[in-house]
Amino acid sequence: MGKKGILLVVSGFSGAGKGTLMRELLRQHENYALSISATTRAPREGEAEGREYFFKTREEFEGMIAREELIEYACYVGNYYGTPKAYVEEQLERGRDVVLEIEIQGARKVKERFPDTVLLFVSPPSAQELRRRLTDRGTEKPEIIESRLARAVEEAKGIEDYDYFVINDDLNACVEHVHQIVECERSRTCRGAERIEAIREDLKAFSK
Ligand code: 5GP
Repeated sequence: MGKKGILLVVSGFSGAGKGTLMRELLRQHENYALSISATTRAPREGEAEGREYFFKTREEFEGMIAREELIEYACYVGNYYGTPKAYVEEQLERGRDVVLEIEIQGARKVKERFPDTVLLFVSPPSAQELRRRLTDRGTEKPEIIESRLARAVEEAKGIEDYDYFVINDDLNACVEHVHQIVECERSRTCRGAERIEAIREDLKAFSK
């Protein structure tokens, strides 16, 4: 067996800047692969099939569930969202670190199924900053912004389910912080069984 990659789940409030953070992480470090989810929601303007999501009908999505092609799936605001299994497994086997940008129900399911998954929650520095980022997007009506802020209050209750909590204030600093977390995880003894055994064997052979 070769070295396996790390599965990293990233969640955070809408407007926390997860998307930008993930894009930069992938641009600055080549060991990451971003999983593209399947969803039944309609594409937004500017979104492309296979780039932001694989857009599916309800029937198609339910077919994927029945054939067990998804690692996890969740219903979010009336639509299905799920993580296709094949890509994630293939990339992990190749030793790449795979990033899933999914909401909390999905994060919990992935952790249950694969306990060595790293769960990371991204937050803006303050509620005021979250509101500013949502407003600056310019795409949302005031009532939508208010409902996202109300949702953030609910989502914040689940933060302790995550292994790491990071504040996305300065983008580059945050990218580096997340990358360091993944690098530290790689050095954990629970991920190093083969390397640990190798040094033990080496020492034994040498001391004869
Ligand atoms: P949006 O519709 O804004 O693109 O995404 C809505 C929410 O669904 C976001 O919190 C996003 O992280 C989450 N999401 C995207 N893909 C998946 C997925 O494959 N599984 C789960 N559980 N959530 C997802």
